[in-house]
Amino acid sequence: MDLIDLFIGSEGTLGIVTEIEVALIPAMKETFDLVAFFPTEEKAVDFVLESKQAEDRAVNFYEFFDENTLRMLSRSYPLIPTLSKAAIYIEQEIVAENDKDYIDYWAGLLEKYGASLDDCWLSADEKQRSELLKFRHAIPEHINEMFKQYHQVKLATDIAVPNDKFKEMFNYYDSELATRDSRLFYIKFGHIGDNHLHVNLIAKKEQDLPLAKELILKFVRKAVSFGGTVSAEHGIGKIKHDYLREMYGLAGIEEMMKVKKVFDPSFVLGRNNILPA
Ligand SMILES: Cc1cc2nc3c(=O)[nH]c(=O)nc-3n(C[C@H](O)[C@H](O)[C@H](O)COP(=O)(O)OP(=O)(O)OC[C@H]3O[C@@H](n4cnc5c(N)ncnc54)[C@H](O)[C@@H]3O)c2cc1C
Repeated sequence: MDLIDLFIGSEGTLGIVTEIEVALIPAMKETFDLVAFFPTEEKAVDFVLESKQAEDRAVNFYEFFDENTLRMLSRSYPLIPTLSKAAIYIEQEIVAENDKDYIDYWAGLLEKYGASLDDCWLSADEKQRSELLKFRHAIPEHINEMFKQYHQVKLATDIAVPNDKFKEMFNYYDSELATRDSRLFYIKFGHIGDNHLHVNLIAKKEQDLPLAKELILKFVRKAVSFGGTVSAEHGIGKIKHDYLREMYGLAGIEEMMKVKKVFDPSFVLGRNNILPA
């Protein structure tokens, strides 16, 4: 392991980063950005899985919106087609290899999965591109507001699984959530291109909080059984120690403690982050 790898994602527990040197990549000259709406969540997922298998199309990201997410956003975005059950937001870099056929490619694939380019939200300029980015960023903002309204701590997953396990993990989310939707409000959204969705759960009543926590732990255990990660980007922080133990076991956590002790013998840095204080 490279020392840089050890510090990246260490959440301030090993030392304080005072200076970072980054390598830059060439700025994108042109992108094609669209939000497509699908008649079912399954078709939206299969659309992404097929597109990801195609030869490199220089796609920067695929972002997923489930039905509950679209309904939650429809207050602020009334133009969301009412019959749509899912949406995929894509950004593709337009390069020499794809600049001749990208429209036909997307039109054909969308049609195959019951969506149409005509109903898509496309960006023709920087302003429209930033509107689509705002639409995507509106998800965590809206759901964070809802958590406040329900006076609840955010209960959310940050799970990613290997490519060949994503569909199974998605169906597992669905089967588990469907049997509990009378007691929990939930949304599934996020970085489907990286097999990495966020499931956010709100218990409709205080007494259903343990149910929500139990469900998150079930998702975490399923992900670990698939060789996935319990935290793909947000980190463990002070509230997800249990998930890390599910992933690495007590022995793994003890190994981490030994490493931390080398850098921070008095355990003063990032107290209670990642490793319980
Ligand atoms: C609405 C919303 C949407 C989000 N979407 C995404 C997303 O799509 N993808 C994603 O990856 N994250 C996302 N996040 C999470 C967010 O980007 C991360 O939590 C990020 O770490 C916050 O950056 P910050 O500078 O505020 O860090 P802080 O919250 O200040 O710090 C984060 C952690 O890094 C440590 N730290 C900070 N600075 C240093 C330093 N100099 N040296 C050592 N340790 C340090 C802190 O101790 C802490 O543990 C989202 C958050 C919100 C609220």
